[in-house]
Amino acid sequence: MHMRLTAVVPALVALLALGGCGGGKEGQADKQGAGASSGAMAEASPLLFIGIDSADWRLLDPLMAEGRLPVLKAFRAQAASGRMQSFYPLEKSPLLWASICTGVEPAVHGVSEFVRGSTQKPVTGSAWHAPALWDILGAAGRSTFVSGMWTTFPARPIDGIMVSDYLPYGREREKPLAGLVSPDSLAALVVACRVDPATLTAAQLARFLPQGTDVAAAEKAWPQQMAKLRDFWAADLGYLEVARALRGSRDFDFFFFYLRGPDMISHGFYHYLAIGEADWHGDAAERAVFREVVQRYYDWTDEAVGEVLSWFPPDYPTVIASDHGFYGPRPEGKGTIEHSEWGIFMVRSPLFEPGASFGHLQLLDICPTVLALLDLPPARDMPGKVLADGATTRGRDRFAHIEKNRVASYLALRPAAGSGEVEQDSAVEEEIRRQLRSLGYIK
Ligand SMILES: [Zn+2]
Repeated sequence: MHMRLTAVVPALVALLALGGCGGGKEGQADKQGAGASSGAMAEASPLLFIGIDSADWRLLDPLMAEGRLPVLKAFRAQAASGRMQSFYPLEKSPLLWASICTGVEPAVHGVSEFVRGSTQKPVTGSAWHAPALWDILGAAGRSTFVSGMWTTFPARPIDGIMVSDYLPYGREREKPLAGLVSPDSLAALVVACRVDPATLTAAQLARFLPQGTDVAAAEKAWPQQMAKLRDFWAADLGYLEVARALRGSRDFDFFFFYLRGPDMISHGFYHYLAIGEADWHGDAAERAVFREVVQRYYDWTDEAVGEVLSWFPPDYPTVIASDHGFYGPRPEGKGTIEHSEWGIFMVRSPLFEPGASFGHLQLLDICPTVLALLDLPPARDMPGKVLADGATTRGRDRFAHIEKNRVASYLALRPAAGSGEVEQDSAVEEEIRRQLRSLGYIK
C-alpha cells in the first residue's frame, strides 16, 4: 500500500498547485465530471457520503413540511429513505461513526471514548483496530477524501486525503500541529481554510437568531452561548472550505463530508426550542433569542449540503446519514434528553427506487451497503447486511450476488499501530476537553 502512496502523493500535490483556499466558488464550471473515475478505474462506482451528526426526522420532517430544507427535501424525493436504528443503550458519536466506517462492532474496532481514563487524554487515531472504508478502498486501489471524522488525529496516510478532526483546534499555535492532514504537504492549505470564530460578524450570526435581534447585545448578555454558536459554526465552515478547496484535486472514488455542528448546536441550544413557555424557568429574553438556533442551523446545514451536492453531477450516487437522532424536551421540564436511537438514512443510486421509504436499517448495515454501492463485497465478519429494502429489482439482484460473495474479513487491512509520532500539545488537548465538557460529553 505504501508503495502506491508514494506514487500518488506527488501527482496530488501537482494538481493542488492549481487551486487553493479562498478560491470561492469560481472554477467550478469544469467540475461536471467531478468524481467520475478515470483510467483503469472507469468501471468502478463512486460514492458521495454526507454525514450529518444527530440528524433526526422528528426535527427535519416538520421543517420540510413548512417548506424549509429544500435541498434535503428534494434529495429525499430522489432517494430511498428511512430511519437508521443506532446502538442502544445510546453511545457516543466517536464509537458510532467508527462502527459506521468499519462495519464491525465496537469490541472489534476499539474506538469507544472521547478521552482516555483518568488522564483524560483525547483518544487518537491509533485507537482504530479495524480498517475503515478508506483502508478497504485503498487496498482496492480506490481513493478517498474524508474530513472531520471523529478520532482521525493524527491524520494518517491513505490513498487520498484525510483531514483530521483536530483542524479547528490550536489556532493560536505559530506552527500548525503535525498531523492535521495527510498528506502533510496540504497543511498550509487546510490551515488557511480554517475559520476563526472571532471573525464571524454580527451580520453573519444574525441568521441563527430571530429577525431583528441585536446580535451585539446578545453577545454581551449571553457570551457563553454566543461563543458556542461561533465555535461550532466556524468549525463546520472551515471543513466546508477545506472540502471546497480540495474536492477538485483528484477524482475521488469515495468523498466523505461530515458535519459535526448539528449535534453540537443541538446539545447547546435544543432546550430553548423544545421546552414550552410554561415549563421554562430561566430568562425569557434568553429563550426568545436562542429558541430558533437549532432549526436555523439546519437551514444552514441544508445550504451546505446543497453546495456539496452541487460539486457532483445531479444524479451522482450519494448517501446522507446521521449516527443517531436527537430527542426533544424532558417531559418534566428543563433540559433535553439529547441523543436518540433513531437517526436518518437516505440513498440516491440507480440501484434504489427514487422516493421509496424503507422503514429502517441498522447502524451496522451502513458499511456493507456503502461497500456494495462502491461495488465492493462486504466481509463475512461484518454483522450488518446490504440494504435491500427500497432497492430496484436490478439493485436487489446485484445485492443478492454481492451478499453471496462476501470476503472472509478485511481485518488484515487494519492500519499499522504506532506508525509515526503523535505531536503532543497539552494546550490543544485542554481546548478539546473544555469543548467536550461544555457539551456534557465528559465530566
Ligand atoms: Zn451528541
